[in-house]
Amino acid sequence: MDTIRVTVWGEYRHEKSNPKVAEVYPDGMHNAIAAGLREGPGLTVTTATLDEPEHGLTEAKLAETDVLIWWGHRAHDEVSDEIVERVRQRVLDGMGLIVLHSGHFSKIFKVLMGSTCNLKWREADERERIWVVEPGHPIAAGIDDHFEIEREEMYGERFDIPQPETVVFISWFQGGEVFRSGCCYTRGKGRIFYFRPGHETYPTYYHPQVKRVIANAVRWAAQPPSPAVFFGNYKPLETIVPSNG
Ligand code: ZN
Repeated sequence: MDTIRVTVWGEYRHEKSNPKVAEVYPDGMHNAIAAGLREGPGLTVTTATLDEPEHGLTEAKLAETDVLIWWGHRAHDEVSDEIVERVRQRVLDGMGLIVLHSGHFSKIFKVLMGSTCNLKWREADERERIWVVEPGHPIAAGIDDHFEIEREEMYGERFDIPQPETVVFISWFQGGEVFRSGCCYTRGKGRIFYFRPGHETYPTYYHPQVKRVIANAVRWAAQPPSPAVFFGNYKPLETIVPSNG
């Protein structure tokens, strides 16, 4: 791939109704995430939001998206089932998907996981310490053995997800909980990464290590087109001679 085409999808509702969020993300969280990605080479970054026609995720838009980033929270139910199915099909066909923070409860993540994706949470302005548990994994490139976010929302285990193929990060919170905060999956040909940080009232998406992880995840999730896979009734490759008796 010459360039990886990234679409950052944002719900873009908190920013319009909560002055505290608008102060942190005056142009919307999706634009802050997109700006972080544009700092690095090799990515062509665009955005889409819930209130655009077809949530900004038309067939044409998805066809030219190599990796989709998803941030949603309070309006998960307003995402149409038709668009969710369209995104799911693109993932199965090889599009990468990066689900951020409260996206754990999005329709698209739940349908791809097949579980409730429920968890514990608390808003108490506490420190999050994120540990790299798979050093050498491409999503952890350039990250020391841990980094800290001074104030974040707490997410705690149990996180009701299927066993990840790889857990890249585990978070610790000041209140004592831990959380699998960087989880890799494959569904069909598509690579999926869940990354925990990013509560809307905190400037998390300006944090250098958070930006680095998201950019790394984009590069990990992007894959060149691969050959079609055949399913179904299949002719034998050589003549099958029935054995006697
Ligand atoms: Zn949150």
